[in-house]
Amino acid sequence: MTLWAAQPGGFRFVAEDVSFPTGIRRIDAEQERELLAAVERWVDKEVAPRVLEYDHADRYPHELVEQMKELGLFGATIGPEYGGLGLPASTYARIVMHISSVWMSITGIFNSHLMLALAIGKFGTAAQKREWLPKLASGAVRGGLALTEPDAGTDLQGIRMTARRDGAHYVINGTKTWISNGIEGSCFALLVKTDPHAQPRHKGMSLFIAPKLPGLTVGKKLEKLGYKCIDSAELIFNNYRVPAASLIGEVEGQGFYQATGGLELGRINVAARGVGIAEGALRLATEYSQTRKTFGKPICEHQAIQLKLGEMATRARAARLLTLDAANAFDCGERCDLQAGMAKYFASEAALENATESMRIHGAYGYSKEYHIERLFRDAPLTCIGEGTNEMQRIIIARQWIKRNPAV
Ligand SMILES: Cc1cc2nc3c(=O)[nH]c(=O)nc-3n(C[C@H](O)[C@H](O)[C@H](O)COP(=O)(O)OP(=O)(O)OC[C@H]3O[C@@H](n4cnc5c(N)ncnc54)[C@H](O)[C@@H]3O)c2cc1C
Repeated sequence: MTLWAAQPGGFRFVAEDVSFPTGIRRIDAEQERELLAAVERWVDKEVAPRVLEYDHADRYPHELVEQMKELGLFGATIGPEYGGLGLPASTYARIVMHISSVWMSITGIFNSHLMLALAIGKFGTAAQKREWLPKLASGAVRGGLALTEPDAGTDLQGIRMTARRDGAHYVINGTKTWISNGIEGSCFALLVKTDPHAQPRHKGMSLFIAPKLPGLTVGKKLEKLGYKCIDSAELIFNNYRVPAASLIGEVEGQGFYQATGGLELGRINVAARGVGIAEGALRLATEYSQTRKTFGKPICEHQAIQLKLGEMATRARAARLLTLDAANAFDCGERCDLQAGMAKYFASEAALENATESMRIHGAYGYSKEYHIERLFRDAPLTCIGEGTNEMQRIIIARQWIKRNPAV
């Protein structure tokens, strides 16, 4: 059984496969090895040599995006029946881990895009899937998820954007912010209120497929500490009209559930990014500490540095195992919200701690823009914010934990 095959420069889908029950996807170990090897070759040859240049210029990596299309990354988790690679979450997570160990920003270009595809694939009508998933899988249309507003991030039910039915259309007004791929992308899963007075609030929320049409303007590109090159932007909707058939699933009131319905995979994504940064920071520290000498010996022979390396290696390993545990449960169709939350929380904190420790091991050079660790140090904090802040993450973990372990 083959879902895809190697071709010069990447992997393409070659055969329709319908043998897996819905939600359960596997590939054999050899196929996974080949795919990961292709990604590693691409990262070594095309990404690693250019990271500093892109990051310092904060320039969108158009050239790499074209190569990512060739590799099939924009369709990584989209079903083969729509031209995607149909990868299981565990393989996808390994890809994200590897790329993020070199440059986390570029994973955001296809991660956010695949969350849009997931919303359509999981909750869309047959016609919506037919219309959008092939274009998303090829990367011909790229986009993201537009949930956050200036006054509502964690409290998603507090959004103010409204959609009013007007004959065969909806008219949408309001502003979204921090939208990844907001400038370069051309289509978004847009969370709105179709009934702003509904109680509970989530019952008045709906999710639309919102391509760039008149009435949608892109506001300023947001300047960031790290996570450079990928565009984060405001999207302003002013009497923006979409056909009623753009409502995902064509049922009002399901938006909150649909927008958060991809959270398990979203959290596995962010956890995988955290693993990548944690491992990348460890790798840089390991190399540097064996070449930098003080007091007549490499600094890795000083016990204070060994303590740091020991902790960093353990954290990176634990983060990887937690993330793969969640991804494997997801691939088996099991409920994995608790595992995914734990993985996201632990791996993102591991990213931040390892980046900080690695920077300290680099001494003054860790503070230099000529060294990669400075970039990892700026990129790492984002993983603690995206897909639910780590403050909320711990609260959610605790609530679920208590619920599943009632006192007898
Ligand atoms: C680089 C970047 C890219 C992003 N990309 C996207 C995107 O593509 N699409 C999108 O929709 N959004 C995106 N976001 C937005 C992101 O999802 C939000 O920033 C995040 O949900 C947090 O919301 P907030 O910033 O409004 O913080 P707030 O919700 O205002 O929270 C502020 C602080 O209070 C804490 N807090 C809030 N409520 C509670 C509570 N009940 N208990 C305990 N602590 C609490 C939070 O943990 C946080 O520490 C992006 C953000 C960044 C920085």
